[in-house]
Amino acid sequence: MIRISELALPLDHPEEAIQSALLKRLGISANELIDFTVFKRSYDARKKNTEIKFVYIIDANIQNEAQLLARFEDDVHVKPAPDTNYYPVESAPAELTERPVVIGFGPCGLFAALTLAQAGYKPIVLERGKEVRARTKDTWALWRKHNLNTESNVQYGEGGAGLFSDGKLYSQIKDPKFYGRKVMHEFVRAGAPEEIMYVSKPHIGTFRLTGVVSRMREEIKALGGEVRFESKVSDLHIDDGRITGVSLENGETIDSRYVVLALGHSSRDTFRLLHKKGVFIEAKPFAIGFRVEHPQSVIDKSRLGKYAGHPELGAADYKVIHHAKNGRAVYSFCMCPGGTVVAATSEEGRVVTNGMSQYSRNERNANSGIVVGIHPEQDFPGGPLAGVELQEKLESHAYEMGGRDYCAPGQLVGDFVKGIPSTELGEVEPSYKPGIKLTDLAPSLPDYAIEAIREAFPAFGKKIRGFDRPDAVLTGIETRTSSPVRITRDRETLQSLNTRGLYPAGEGAGYAGGILSAGVDGIKVAEALVNALLDDLKGA
Ligand code: FAD
Repeated sequence: MIRISELALPLDHPEEAIQSALLKRLGISANELIDFTVFKRSYDARKKNTEIKFVYIIDANIQNEAQLLARFEDDVHVKPAPDTNYYPVESAPAELTERPVVIGFGPCGLFAALTLAQAGYKPIVLERGKEVRARTKDTWALWRKHNLNTESNVQYGEGGAGLFSDGKLYSQIKDPKFYGRKVMHEFVRAGAPEEIMYVSKPHIGTFRLTGVVSRMREEIKALGGEVRFESKVSDLHIDDGRITGVSLENGETIDSRYVVLALGHSSRDTFRLLHKKGVFIEAKPFAIGFRVEHPQSVIDKSRLGKYAGHPELGAADYKVIHHAKNGRAVYSFCMCPGGTVVAATSEEGRVVTNGMSQYSRNERNANSGIVVGIHPEQDFPGGPLAGVELQEKLESHAYEMGGRDYCAPGQLVGDFVKGIPSTELGEVEPSYKPGIKLTDLAPSLPDYAIEAIREAFPAFGKKIRGFDRPDAVLTGIETRTSSPVRITRDRETLQSLNTRGLYPAGEGAGYAGGILSAGVDGIKVAEALVNALLDDLKGA
């Protein structure tokens, strides 16, 4: 197969135009082309006021491939296509009785369990939250009625933190084995739109993701796996440096010497448990800030020029970064085009924000986290759990500032930059539910973060016209941008540094940031676990 990159076509091109352009580019006739698929489609918006084009990467099977490749030897855009197929791990031996345990059923646990189940290892998944439908009801209760269920919410439950999300499925991780393709392929098999396989910034949206996740759970069960909800792991059994099993809050013990730990970044009680049990964990950098909301039309106009609103392009996204004079980097995080800001706490008396959208991305506002990177040595020295403690302190204060009923403190960008409290909204209607309380956000974050964000807005306004418009709304606070700890693992075996058989994985362990990378990490640890298990069996 041959890969042809940088094939540009107008936005409104007919389907057949791809084949015609391919034949022309390669200088071959239709008879010589066996078949082709679109590997990737992005758009080039550098000339947004004259012509935005689609840019394709095409994989094609062609007669006399070797000859053709020789002809294009010096052309970097015509090369052999890499093998992106997934090759499964060795199947479980018939005599195997021991079952691996997967803690957490977010994207990481989901893909770890699926990979194990598909190879016959019959994993037992333990998830503290509820299945997708019950979870959705509980989560809406916070947004609509101020009622938080601390075990069933945006962070906890089937699908993990990625369920109520924008469902963005891209990442900048290195992926030499193309595990990301397996993640996408499995999502499509479970009902996600086919286009996620090839568009450059794919997304599913919350509504579709719920169906996809429950279908994948049913596949794991059909393959002999078990998925248990409302099963919080409250103890780990470690014997002579090796995990031997886990206990649930209801007192039940499950024995296993192979445990995937895919907790997510919010399971603070479980981080404390790991520390108490002596599992190696360390503090790691994360970021803090606010969510900002603008009218989506302002972002579309700035990013897409005269093509704003073009149906083929949809709602535009952005990415901004500013290096502040005080040495801090301020950047946009988890940008959600046409989405809403959501209440994302899992703990009583705390307020934290995030963003989500539906597949259509047609809500009025664009939102993103505008956050400042912080580091353990400089900003929260004091041991492995110091970052967790800082998050707790900031989120509790935000709860007070919001009026103690899960409303969030908010401020207009213009007032924030001037340093005066807001009293009245402008044209931008904030989307956060259950609601925001206008105030002065300055006391909600450390001074260095406020200073850096204040400086960043006018700079962002120079990159995206309207970004610093005075009535854009800030909602506070954003603290769960990534895990405040790393549950460090051995580079080769992917087991905990000091607890054999324990596989820290995904976002909570500090090895992923986002749905796709968490899924990829789940596949990686499942493979490492299988290799170790088979080695142990051979050695036994
Ligand atoms: P999680 O998804 O957090 O899953 C961990 C699971 O473990 C949870 O279900 C939890 O209940 C369970 N658990 C924890 N402790 C225990 C225990 N003791 N016993 C049993 N179970 C336990 N990323 C993107 O790539 N694109 C997006 O558009 C996007 N939008 C987001 C929007 C929101 C509102 C949020 C909150 C996050 C968003 N993210 C997005 C981030 C993404 O969701 C996470 O990076 C991803 O879910 C991490 O996957 P994970 O499996 O490592 O952890």
